[in-house]
Amino acid sequence: MRVRIIGAGLAGSEAAWQCARRGVAVELFEMRPMRTTPAHQTDDFAELVCSNSLKSESENTAPWLLKEEMRRAGSLLLEIARETAVPAGHALAVDRAEFSRKVTQAISREPLITIRREEVTALGAGELTIIATGPLTSDALSREIARLCAASPDNSRLYFYDSISPIVEADSIDMSKVYLAARYGKGSADYINCPMSKDEYDRFYDALLAAQSVEQKDWEKLNYFESCLPIEEIARRGRDTLRFGPMKPVGLKDPRTGRMPYAVVQLRQENLRADSYNLVGFQNHLKFGEQARVLSLIPGLEGARFLRYGQIHRNTYIKAPALLNPTLQMKAHPQVLFAGQICGVEGYVESIATGLMAGINAAALATGGEPAPPPRATAFGSLVHYITQAESENFQPANITFDLLPALETRVRDRKERHRQQCERALREFDGWYSGCIGQAGDPSPSAPLRVGTTSC
Ligand SMILES: Cc1cc2nc3c(=O)[nH]c(=O)nc-3n(C[C@H](O)[C@H](O)[C@H](O)COP(=O)(O)OP(=O)(O)OC[C@H]3O[C@@H](n4cnc5c(N)ncnc54)[C@H](O)[C@@H]3O)c2cc1C
Repeated sequence: MRVRIIGAGLAGSEAAWQCARRGVAVELFEMRPMRTTPAHQTDDFAELVCSNSLKSESENTAPWLLKEEMRRAGSLLLEIARETAVPAGHALAVDRAEFSRKVTQAISREPLITIRREEVTALGAGELTIIATGPLTSDALSREIARLCAASPDNSRLYFYDSISPIVEADSIDMSKVYLAARYGKGSADYINCPMSKDEYDRFYDALLAAQSVEQKDWEKLNYFESCLPIEEIARRGRDTLRFGPMKPVGLKDPRTGRMPYAVVQLRQENLRADSYNLVGFQNHLKFGEQARVLSLIPGLEGARFLRYGQIHRNTYIKAPALLNPTLQMKAHPQVLFAGQICGVEGYVESIATGLMAGINAAALATGGEPAPPPRATAFGSLVHYITQAESENFQPANITFDLLPALETRVRDRKERHRQQCERALREFDGWYSGCIGQAGDPSPSAPLRVGTTSC
């Protein structure tokens, strides 16, 4: 059975390669150049639409771990990234034009992959399909996907805008300056509250208004939903507007003083990210450096380490926790798999990684095998766990970070040592899974065919 892959971006190109590598024929659909997206500029596959960085290569960091697992799984795109790397300190950055050119060349030369330069607007019933059309999926296909998702029992929908609040690492919060409380004492005191005096608020407000926003291209100009306005936009509506919105102090008496602060920033523990906190209602469109500077004016966050900065941009992604199972297959339509940003991950490398997994899984299905999801302790498994198990109502895409990986069985205080042990465990489990269930790591060329996933794992 052949596999249809829609979208020859980062995820789709890797998925196609992984299928071909397992002897499975692929029909790969790409709508460019006939129809393009507002961000892509070339006809090439796997175009990097913004930065040219594939993040840290420092050993025992979370982005390194994900890439290391991908290398061990024979990722074509990471191999080409290595070949086209440019100097970037501890990061893996590539010559973007050369990178996409080489990916296009490798995919085009592969006899098992048939390329169709056309926009897909409908999904064929019963065909084994990977949807990898990314955050800028064409309108017609978006409608088709929304129809497919709405047919699911829980009436799910597509999300079209990402409105992301910053996330900080828990152990970088100065707990001596903050307090735990629930508003009006209702429910358990799960929120960390960062109290501000009038002087502190004024300083924060002035810095926020003066901070530089990310430059918006015309197509990015958003009609913000009133319920998720960026904080700088709320601030522009008046000096006190934030104090009546996301920084509202009412009902949040500071137990140490017995008084209500002038303003409060609330931090909420991320459900599946045990070691991190979300700045509630702090979605914003400021440059990352500006966010680091302005948000460090919040009492308790002076030395905060940011796992993610706020962002608002167009993004099409499905409500994965309600719709997908850990093999990236739809629960209601198991012949349809999702990969890349549209399945609920964020970032270039995460998109390639899910393309790799979807390719392996689709190849297994195409040859009568049963896909075997990666172990929970691996970076692959942690990404899949997040997108399938996170709270579905307010689901937001995630990058790979240590707070997605499960904690160690015994507590290790030293952060570096903890991360080293988490990486060691992840790679050990990855190797067991990959060599036992999926195929041998090594030569990523299709001429070295691999055994396809079996039911025995
Ligand atoms: C403006 C913008 C900037 C970003 N910047 C970064 C960044 O700097 N760093 C980072 O890590 N991540 C960034 N991302 C997030 C994300 O990592 C990238 O979008 C990444 O390219 C996603 O990979 P993908 O394979 O899911 O989608 P894509 O790489 O976008 O691939 C999807 C492909 O599907 C094609 N397609 C769409 N609809 C159809 C259709 N109906 N029929 C056929 N083909 C179709 C598209 O033409 C495209 O080639 C950015 C996202 C956006 C929107």
